[in-house]
Amino acid sequence: MEKTSETFTNKRIPISIRKEVETALSYFPDLKNVPIEFKFKEKLERSFMQAQPEFSTVFNKPKRRRYYIFISSSFNIEGEKFTIDTVPKDVLIGWIGHELGHIMDYLHRGSLNLIWFGIKYIFVGKHIREAERAADVFAVNHGMGDYILETKNFILNHTSLSETYKNRIKRLYLSPEDILQLTQELAPSEKISS
Ligand SMILES: [Zn+2]
Repeated sequence: MEKTSETFTNKRIPISIRKEVETALSYFPDLKNVPIEFKFKEKLERSFMQAQPEFSTVFNKPKRRRYYIFISSSFNIEGEKFTIDTVPKDVLIGWIGHELGHIMDYLHRGSLNLIWFGIKYIFVGKHIREAERAADVFAVNHGMGDYILETKNFILNHTSLSETYKNRIKRLYLSPEDILQLTQELAPSEKISS
């Protein structure tokens, strides 16, 4: 099976999500030469997707590290099952954009900083919020504001999800209002022209 993207070097992308991944990647020219593998996993601990460096490459220079974006082929929120096929395409692109935002964040970190970052992410609740918002900001600043907004609204407007869950999302990530404000602060040329 052909798995390697034709458009981007150093990327491994499952064929079923190639279009969405390539759309998201097109907003991140900085990641062109960064090795990233997109990989389906049966079940992820915390979330739908997860971006992380390959541990054996953590001590390489940031752009020489290899990174993974793990994707759950299906995920449950409060008993409701979502799958890669039922989530709208733009929501998926936004979600991938958020993960690429994490990788941009990792590129700005030295090796020890990155390891410390990983430890804090696991053990310090407040740190999760900083990390998640940073990923959103990177994605919005790269012109993905509309997609990030789609993703956020998909969750926040999903009536069957509890207020508790939605409030957690509001607390950890940028709010739709934050995203709109950031988008407006960008130079017109950097905005999505759709
Ligand atoms: Zn995240």
